[in-house]
Amino acid sequence: MGRSVITRKEARRAKKLSFCYHCGGAFKPGDCLDDDHIPPRTAFQNKDRNWPLKLPVHEVCNSNLSASDEQFKHLGELLRDGQTNQPPHTKACESGAYTLLQGLPMKGMICRLVQACHAAFYQHWLPLETSNSCLSPLVQMDQSGHPAAENHYPQYEHFCDLRKFNARIGNVDRVETCNGQFRCHIVWAYTDDKKTPFAVFGIDICGWHKLSKGMLSRLQGCVGHYEMPIPRSPA
Ligand SMILES: [Zn+2]
Repeated sequence: MGRSVITRKEARRAKKLSFCYHCGGAFKPGDCLDDDHIPPRTAFQNKDRNWPLKLPVHEVCNSNLSASDEQFKHLGELLRDGQTNQPPHTKACESGAYTLLQGLPMKGMICRLVQACHAAFYQHWLPLETSNSCLSPLVQMDQSGHPAAENHYPQYEHFCDLRKFNARIGNVDRVETCNGQFRCHIVWAYTDDKKTPFAVFGIDICGWHKLSKGMLSRLQGCVGHYEMPIPRSPA
C-alpha cells in the first residue's frame, strides 16, 4: 500500500517535518518558521481552500516563495475564468498559449509542488537540481506557434501508463487535498537495466489537463519524473 495524505489527520502528521522542504535546512531552536500552503491557496476558490496540506518552512524561505505564490494566483485565474489579468492579458486558447507561458514558469511551479509532496511522504529533502523532467498541461509552443516537440516525447506516455497502473492497484503515494482539487501521485520504478531508481509523478490542480485541449486537440495532464534512490519508510 502506498503512503497517503488524504485526511486532515494525515495532513497534520505530514506537517511534522524536521527540515525546510524548500532549502533542505534542518530546523534549529529559535528558527522563525511559517506554514506554507501546498499548493498556494491563491490557486483556489475560497470553497476549495479547505483543507490544505501545510508544511513548515523558514520565514525567509517563505518570503522567497512570494513570487511563486503570485504565479499560482495567475494560474488559478486562468483555471477559473479562462484568462488571467497578468500582463500581457492572456487566455488559455490557441493564440494566447505562447504568451501565457512566457509569464508562467510552469516547470518551476510544478517542481515546488513535487518537492513539497516528496518531503511530506518521505521526510526527505528533494534538491531542485535533482535530474528530472516534466510535461505541463499548459502546452509548450515553439517559435512558430506550434506545439513543441517536448509535448510528444514517448517517455511521458510510459510515465502516464505506469502511474495509472499503479494507482489502480493501490501502489501510489498520494496527496488529495483542497476539496479534491489538488492531487499528486508518486510511484517508484527502475530503468530497464534495473540500475537507476526514479520516481514518476502526476499532478492535477482543478482539472488543469483541460487547458491543453484547445492547443493539442487532446487532453494532456501533468506528468514527470526525477531520479534518486528510493527513500526508506520514515520511522
Ligand atoms: Zn528554508
